[in-house]
Amino acid sequence: MKRAALWVILLTMPVRSASVPPSTRPALRAQLADNPEVRSALDWFARNLAAINEQQIRLTEIPAPPFQEAQRAAALKAVLASAGLDVQIDSTGNVIGELLRATEKEIVVLSAHLATVFPPSTEVKVRHEGNRLLAPGISDNGTGLAALAAIARACHEAHIKPRRTILFVADVGEEGEGNLRGMRALVDAYRPKLKAVIVLDGSGTDHVTTKALASRRVEATITGPGGHSWSDFGMPNPINALVRASVRFINTRVPVAPRTTFNLGQIEGGTSVNSIPYEAKLKVDIRSESEDELVKLESALRECIAAGVRDEMESARDRTKGKLEWKVELLGSRPGGELPPHSTLLAALRAADEYVGNQSRIERSSTDANVPLSNSIDAISIGAGGAGGGAHSLNEWYDPAGREMGLKRALLTLLGVSGLAEEKAR
Ligand SMILES: [Zn+2]
Repeated sequence: MKRAALWVILLTMPVRSASVPPSTRPALRAQLADNPEVRSALDWFARNLAAINEQQIRLTEIPAPPFQEAQRAAALKAVLASAGLDVQIDSTGNVIGELLRATEKEIVVLSAHLATVFPPSTEVKVRHEGNRLLAPGISDNGTGLAALAAIARACHEAHIKPRRTILFVADVGEEGEGNLRGMRALVDAYRPKLKAVIVLDGSGTDHVTTKALASRRVEATITGPGGHSWSDFGMPNPINALVRASVRFINTRVPVAPRTTFNLGQIEGGTSVNSIPYEAKLKVDIRSESEDELVKLESALRECIAAGVRDEMESARDRTKGKLEWKVELLGSRPGGELPPHSTLLAALRAADEYVGNQSRIERSSTDANVPLSNSIDAISIGAGGAGGGAHSLNEWYDPAGREMGLKRALLTLLGVSGLAEEKAR
């Protein structure tokens, strides 16, 4: 399809409309990227790439472990305010900046998550190696946050006048056990005016996440009386029970299609080598393309924990010395969902890809976009340009080469769904 034809559809289609057959597409009127303000916003990036790198370094060096995003949020608030937005921090901790001058109350959100996976003691000073920047969190989500700030600034400087209200949001709760609470609060607050959410997460321009991967995070806890390794030998041991349960669980068969996975991610318990522990805990991450498989696997985990406890009780030498208790708790759950293939948002992304000369593949992933998608609100998650690697590791890196394409792609997608106020007058 010609780029011009796509833009017309974007500017005229209602959000979340059904498929528009080619024969009924309206005649060519204007191209988004021919609009002088949009051109000026697109040109802003090339002149400011060094400053965007500096911003990314500065934001990355402010620690933001899960549930401790406030300091970085305050920095984002200042950055978005200096970009000319009207900025608030909501009661959940999300930074919300409104681009003024919109003519309609319907809302389009551009978001980037604040949190990293790293604990407070992690060294987050950014190092330089050739063209690469290295630091935990530099790409995920230093890139997204720097892009959020840059796109807001470009829109302001270029006097973009959107039709729908655009909110630039740096949200809390995306990583670790945050359980997407920032995005949940945002969707709760702005539904039903919320028409689309574009999530900037990490680097690259190679993908677009339109399918939300459903997941559960659960914690199994086994407790017992605890005692001395020698004198209480035979007493049921929570670690033994957890190991027995774990071996059972990891032998669970999961389907290849729909793809279903599990990960025993964290295990803890015990106080010393010569004590029978009073507690053992296991955290498990379960993911599936199918909600049914997710439910099945979670109940399999419960059965395995129960069986592990039973095995341990049956083999303990002296059952008079107490018994074991167990529980399995849900730490978090990410709902699934999918963007309809003929949505305006995906058409906007495809048109932006075509304009910048990019090709991207559809992906299923677990991101902030899960929340709007599970609420039937159009959403995608995309990288914010450049290249990165080693996400969630201490060796995380980012290379800004190619960032400009990612910024333009995100901006054009955003304006494709927000529309421009001037369009009607043309
Ligand atoms: Zn991320």
